[in-house]
Amino acid sequence: MTTLADRTARIASSPTMTVTATVDRLRLEGVSVIDFGAGEPDFSTPDAINAAAKLAIDQHFSKYTPVGGSADLKRAICDRYRAEYGVSYREDEVIATAGGKQALFNTALALFNPGDEVITHAPHWPTLTEQVKLADASPVVIRTHADAGFAITAEPFLRAMTPRTRGVIVNSPCNPTGALMSEGELALLAEETSRRGIWLILDLCYEQLIYDPASHNLPGVLDRYCRDRSIICGSASKGYAMTGWRCGWSIGPARAIAAQSALQSHSTSNVSSITQRAVVAALTGSQEPVAAMRAEYRKRRDSLHAWLTSDPRIHCVKPSGAFYLFPNVSDCLSAELPTTTDFAQTLLDEHRVAVTPGEAFEAPGFIRLSYATSMDNLREGSRRLLEFVATHVPVQPVR
Ligand code: PMP
Repeated sequence: MTTLADRTARIASSPTMTVTATVDRLRLEGVSVIDFGAGEPDFSTPDAINAAAKLAIDQHFSKYTPVGGSADLKRAICDRYRAEYGVSYREDEVIATAGGKQALFNTALALFNPGDEVITHAPHWPTLTEQVKLADASPVVIRTHADAGFAITAEPFLRAMTPRTRGVIVNSPCNPTGALMSEGELALLAEETSRRGIWLILDLCYEQLIYDPASHNLPGVLDRYCRDRSIICGSASKGYAMTGWRCGWSIGPARAIAAQSALQSHSTSNVSSITQRAVVAALTGSQEPVAAMRAEYRKRRDSLHAWLTSDPRIHCVKPSGAFYLFPNVSDCLSAELPTTTDFAQTLLDEHRVAVTPGEAFEAPGFIRLSYATSMDNLREGSRRLLEFVATHVPVQPVR
């Protein structure tokens, strides 16, 4: 028998990626599936970004770069945050990483010790808590609630703090709920983390995908209250439709970034040199393609929300950001379909629609639907889903 390291028993593989793998397998078998599972844009990477990458290849920009990224990429990241949020970071306060995922992983490994507690909010992207466990620390999960629009507020974090609390992770806009944390609530939280010497980590990977007018200058809040005890993790993946290129970043105090760089120097080294050139083009070029994608996502959000909530058994907050709807379908569960895992599996088996069950996000009773797919798919997928609900839950519950 092969003996594996203990840490492999502490973590599960990504449930969101499992849905993607099932859809891929079915498609290989020739089955047509409407995929609401994908956590990535369906758009192609904008042409100007591709052109910069092609040029980098033609110019043989193919050697190692500094571990934390080439100087022009770091400068482009700093400039973008300055322009967008009015915050000022130096180049030794930023590291380019293989996606936001590695930015968050570096952060966890650099900041947490065995026995530390790290608080985050559920429903949540599963990687956030798994990475805390990989750093030998313990995740502490507070809840946000559908009846409050899943708003991320300071108070539950403050109540969960103990002398062992070492970090707090906030994801805004949130995957899977699409909810935001307001500047005022983050200020309340940051004031307290600063007072207690707790790290505040902000996962801003969906920062460019906010649909309703909302002031979301969370970096400005960190700058004001806890600049020396906070890390911002960002990514080119979602806003620029660059998931496969693998580039994200951590921004924070130089000592914490140097520690991340040391860790990365012994694991993956620099982000692909070609990707780096592409991301410089993304950050410094026209932002028009981002605005166009955002406008399309907004239309899709509104349409999918209207279609799904035409059935009164499906209760769904209209989210402010990201590209997911996270409806409560507990009124559609029954003896035959007792959990949302059963709901999702049967929906896939019978109607060929892939959704991610809420269990993946510590939120049984809910399902996540990604609207990063065409309007035609959204229309057909919601038609099938409503038909599925009508078949399996013929009688409306008395409310
Ligand atoms: N944070 C959140 C909340 C996410 O949903 C994801 C991707 N699904 C990431 C970070 C990381 O994405 P990437 O590594 O592609 O930048």
